[in-house]
Amino acid sequence: MDKPLSSNTSLSGQGTAPMIDPFGRAVTYLRVSVTDRCDFRCVYCMAENMTFLPKREVLTLEELDRLCSAFIGKGVKKLRLTGGEPLVRKNIMSLIRNLSRHLETGALEELTVTTNGSQLSKLSSELYDCGIRRLNVSLDTLDADRFKAITRWGELDKVMEGIQTATDAGLKIKINMVALKGVNEHEIIPMMEWAHAHGHDMTLIETMPLGEIDGDRTDQYLPLSLVRSRIGEQFSMEDIPYKTGGPARYVEVKETGGRLGFITPMTHNFCESCNRVRITCTGQLYMCLGQDDMADLRAPLRASEGNDLLNAAIDEAIGRKPKGHDFVIDRRTRQPAVSRHMSVTGG
Ligand code: SAM
Ligand code: SF4
Repeated sequence: MDKPLSSNTSLSGQGTAPMIDPFGRAVTYLRVSVTDRCDFRCVYCMAENMTFLPKREVLTLEELDRLCSAFIGKGVKKLRLTGGEPLVRKNIMSLIRNLSRHLETGALEELTVTTNGSQLSKLSSELYDCGIRRLNVSLDTLDADRFKAITRWGELDKVMEGIQTATDAGLKIKINMVALKGVNEHEIIPMMEWAHAHGHDMTLIETMPLGEIDGDRTDQYLPLSLVRSRIGEQFSMEDIPYKTGGPARYVEVKETGGRLGFITPMTHNFCESCNRVRITCTGQLYMCLGQDDMADLRAPLRASEGNDLLNAAIDEAIGRKPKGHDFVIDRRTRQPAVSRHMSVTGG
């Protein structure tokens, strides 16, 4: 079904109202999961024998282009493609190339991708050619055996080679590291030193209770407030107002000269400045990562070729964007607070 998009797909989606939520926040950042499939099986993200969605439920590349373009027409300035692993979707480069037309017109300021890095040695120069300048690469360890243990199916060498190819192609890399208690916590400082020495920013992420996995999440949870104070014993960190449009709060580490970000949905509420919404690979719009309320955009998308129904559904949904979320890993029931997986909503 995923034939390459023809380059004349050009739905501008212009001329509709901007998206302002009930709390006066303008929605300018869209994350789109382009697939729920992945070539890794990270322990905190998926069960090893994941059941993926039937293909007909997943938006086609044409539908994804139409949907993204409608959001750009409504004021989205930053678009991040994620997954699952976005770069393993068949013909994904034709979607990326097509979306790059919005960079050329200036309607979109940034097109970017979150990836596990497995395809970067193959795709980096094409990504650069499509106007992509920054990538988030998820990497939780520099130890090959631990990498295998965390990702189950991944190979560290391939990812490191991909990061090098991307850097050589001119792409700026940010490393995303999920902090896992007792698994990679002793690697946080060495990873930061490695990242900064190679010119990469690094962001630490707390595990979030999204979806059933094989293990117990309360065992993995490591509060970043603790990590931060440990780093502070060895390094001087200065809070900086650096913003990438995402939820990370950044410090500059004096000794390394690099930036370190903290994404702390569990210990700190970052909702007050939230400018983001997310779309799953089936076209469900989530107004908040931490809540179950969503709007189905696939039905209006498939109901007609014009965008009137789609735009009306988007407006109605943005009118319901909640003020904030309330994540908890419930120690009593050990149930995830939100039942869908990160690979469905995208990170
Ligand atoms: N496959 C790509 C990757 O790994 O970068 C993109 C999708 S992945 C779901 C996006 C990000 O979410 C990754 O940085 C991953 O480490 C993070 N992630 C996945 N499950 C998570 C969880 N339960 N808690 C916190 N972060 C999670
Ligand atoms: Fe795949 Fe990314 Fe989830 Fe790992 S975190 S299983 S690479 S989607």
